[in-house]
Amino acid sequence: MRIYQDNDKRELAAVVCNKCKKNLKVKNGVIMEGCFNGNIRFGYFSNKDGDVHSFDLCEECYDKMIDGFAIPVEEEEVKELL
Ligand SMILES: [Zn+2]
Repeated sequence: MRIYQDNDKRELAAVVCNKCKKNLKVKNGVIMEGCFNGNIRFGYFSNKDGDVHSFDLCEECYDKMIDGFAIPVEEEEVKELL
């Protein structure tokens, strides 16, 4: 869950893990630790036609989620990080 300082959602104030309620470190509007941001708009052929869901997971909860996958996540190393 993301909390913004302004109504335009430009200035990120806080990020809370939806699973465990951990407050993630945010400094000057930037998340300073691992965070999974899920964001999906369900389409016409789903049972949630047009619904938009979004959530955040801390890295620990993300790791627990992917541990339950029958097929491991695809991994790729990115050389340049922001
Ligand atoms: Zn968590």
